[in-house]
Amino acid sequence: PVRVRYAPSPTGSPHVGNLRTAIYNWLLAKKEGGQFIARLEDTDRTPERYVPEGVWEIEESLRYLGIVPDEWWVTGGPKGPYIQSQRLDIYKEYAEKLVAEGKAYYCYCSKERLEAMRKEQQARGVPTGYDRHCRDPQRREQMRLKRLSEEGVEPTPVIRLAMPLEGQTVVHDLVRGEIVYENRSQDDQILLKSDGYPTYFLACVVDDHLMGVTHVIRGDDWLSSAAKFMAVIQAFGWEPPKLVHPPLILGPDRKKLSKRHGATQFMEFVREGYLPEALFNFLVLLGWSAGEENREIMSIPEIIERFSLEGLSEHPAVFDYDKLRWMNGYYIRHSEPGRIVGMCLPYLIKSGLISDPPKPDELEMARRVIPLEMERMKVLSEVTDLVGFFFQPLDYPHGYEEKAVAKWFGVPHLKPMLEMEIEAYEALPEWKQESLEKATREVAERLQVPFAQVVHPTRVATTGRTVGPGLFDTLWGLGRERTLMRLRRVLQ
Ligand code: GLU
Repeated sequence: PVRVRYAPSPTGSPHVGNLRTAIYNWLLAKKEGGQFIARLEDTDRTPERYVPEGVWEIEESLRYLGIVPDEWWVTGGPKGPYIQSQRLDIYKEYAEKLVAEGKAYYCYCSKERLEAMRKEQQARGVPTGYDRHCRDPQRREQMRLKRLSEEGVEPTPVIRLAMPLEGQTVVHDLVRGEIVYENRSQDDQILLKSDGYPTYFLACVVDDHLMGVTHVIRGDDWLSSAAKFMAVIQAFGWEPPKLVHPPLILGPDRKKLSKRHGATQFMEFVREGYLPEALFNFLVLLGWSAGEENREIMSIPEIIERFSLEGLSEHPAVFDYDKLRWMNGYYIRHSEPGRIVGMCLPYLIKSGLISDPPKPDELEMARRVIPLEMERMKVLSEVTDLVGFFFQPLDYPHGYEEKAVAKWFGVPHLKPMLEMEIEAYEALPEWKQESLEKATREVAERLQVPFAQVVHPTRVATTGRTVGPGLFDTLWGLGRERTLMRLRRVLQ
């Protein structure tokens, strides 16, 4: 059975590329009826690489997309723990096993020696790397004794992989094809550090093996070190998982996607108001396509049905922000209005347009007016600009757009128009779009001006603006009381 894993490091708020990786893994598990595991790779404790506060955002971003791991650190599972820092004994045991088999060795080289070696290599212009000094048992023992006498305590060694000195390591990547590395050019990499923490390669290889991982789908940045990964697997004599490196994500200028281009953290998109299904749909298409037809909008069940690793591209994918906005607009328009209202409320609360918690009349108004703008909304955070005028107190001349006033309050029929409207609207038995329109048409007829000459100044009088939903939707949304109040204000 397929077992895949998403293995984030807690280095901060996750990047959109991380979530794309999670999506591909999850899709493969769903498609094949397998399991999706999430494992926290927190063995790099350097302060920039270990940001425990980021873990919540890693969890939250998965939840937002509707991805629930079958096994992970939150709920546990049969192959746990799923946090690497809680598995240190396991890594030590496996590293020692390699030492016992002669596939790895203790290295006592001091920091100073390694530093001097690196400087010397740089001076000679040769590639830097460990010179395998301690691979020789005699030199190793000398080094140990030297440190013991200098430091007065038994030095703790690191464990290094004894890389085969001949032959090649072949990496088969389902997307990138076959890559062959000369073993000679590979370093004797550290597997276990002197503080007892494993390096990425040891921890990851051991966990993938013990957790029964069949496919490793991971970020493009790991392709360049896939030979090291393979070398460790081969040292253990284990069956390697299938490797899959989806393509790099580029910004619109075809340079590697970065902060310069705009938001890159998944949660930034969530906060701006992108819907889960839009993010899912958009991210999955960055480097994957269903093939036959060029469909862009696909529901998650449809994507699961069509998903296959063969659909992954080897060519870099461009992160097109405009396309994401378009796609999000599509999903907003096609959502159930009540859901969009609910998702918009936090933005209205945050901007102070409605109370926290919303009062019943504010809620009622939100339910009326937000659906009026669903056609135009591209991201949910735009809701404050789109419907703010419904909620804001409009106190002429405050809150009126200058050019709207200049254009429409100069019409000669403004005053009689407002008076007639107030009278007509007050008398309406029902506050409905059709009856509002009928009453307004009658005002235009009585004034003997074209309908538009009434619609535009009325819109400015009631909203302060020249654009918005249809006038009668707007008046309906405002409600009778607010509409009359706003019309009267202009007259005062
Ligand atoms: N912990 C690694 C990262 O966050 C994962 C690499 C892998 O999936 O093998 O990039």
